[in-house]
Amino acid sequence: MLVVGAVLDIEGARPAYVRLRAGRVTEVGSLGTEGRRRGETVVRGIVVPAPVNAHTHLGDSVSVREPPPGPVSRLIQPPHGYKFRLLANASRAEKLSAMRAALRRMAREGVAATVDFREEGRPGVELLREAARGSPVRVYALGRPLARPVDQHELRRLLAVADGIGLSSARDETDETRRTVARACRAAGRKFGLHASEAVREKPERFLDPHPDLLIHLAKATPDDLAQVRDERVSVAVCPRSNALFARQPDLGAMERLGLSVLLGTDNAMFHAPSIWREMEFAYVGSRLRRRPVSAAFVARAALVEPWVWLGRPEAALVIPGMPVAPVVLRLPPDDPAYQVVTRTTEHLMARPGARERRARR
Ligand SMILES: [Zn+2]
Repeated sequence: MLVVGAVLDIEGARPAYVRLRAGRVTEVGSLGTEGRRRGETVVRGIVVPAPVNAHTHLGDSVSVREPPPGPVSRLIQPPHGYKFRLLANASRAEKLSAMRAALRRMAREGVAATVDFREEGRPGVELLREAARGSPVRVYALGRPLARPVDQHELRRLLAVADGIGLSSARDETDETRRTVARACRAAGRKFGLHASEAVREKPERFLDPHPDLLIHLAKATPDDLAQVRDERVSVAVCPRSNALFARQPDLGAMERLGLSVLLGTDNAMFHAPSIWREMEFAYVGSRLRRRPVSAAFVARAALVEPWVWLGRPEAALVIPGMPVAPVVLRLPPDDPAYQVVTRTTEHLMARPGARERRARR
């Protein structure tokens, strides 16, 4: 397949052609120098790195109903919130099939990886691993220990199967719990993340100590708080649709202006489909509705580039021959690529390079 149009990746947007074989990039060059090969499919479009969904709770997909009225705390607060009752009442088989369905949807939308906060201790992570078996979506599972105070044995067993730990908020956990968990993650070379300033503002002194690898939300953070997060070089995963459901929004405009490392996620799968493309459009349009506009380039980076950098795999965000993760080809007009990608992408505009060749090889 030959894509004539533009590339949008870690180096920004530029006119280019990209040649692919079996989904993999074999050639990238300047427009006009591509040449034509007989029998080659030619697409006018934009090539982007495969997106990453930087914050999900896929276990929640056991329920897809409209959330009941009431404050978010009653819905998602551990251990007795609506969500945790649903999880407790769902069978293993129900959770497994719900997570598989969510991963299938992500795969169809070209998502290459997801960073999931998996509750329910080590069994929760193991269940997610089982659901992800055979899926093209790479799952980074941040588990959550069950016992309080934290049990060292449980923590070690959890970190043996998880990519890290994802806690509820600093408000929901003691300083001692956060310290124990952060120390164990650091020692095991794993990630430590937590939710922060979602429903109410929390003090950066608390959620930045001990130093996390990832903060989720910061919907109620002030510009000064955000500047502190930037200075501590901590990345933020924002979930604008999830926040909007409860009448809040992260200040994306300030985050862009201050130069934070921002990743995009779809949060609780019970409330929103894990569609990173829908999240991108909402993030962009929502920021304008709130009169805190962000650039389309910033939103595109939050889904296509920053998560790869955070995962320590920036090479997956650069469209060149040999890139380790197959890119996504979008049949979109290549003018102003970031704006096109953020506001217009839907699944049916994805060209599937190599699908035919892969079938033929089987
Ligand atoms: Zn979350």
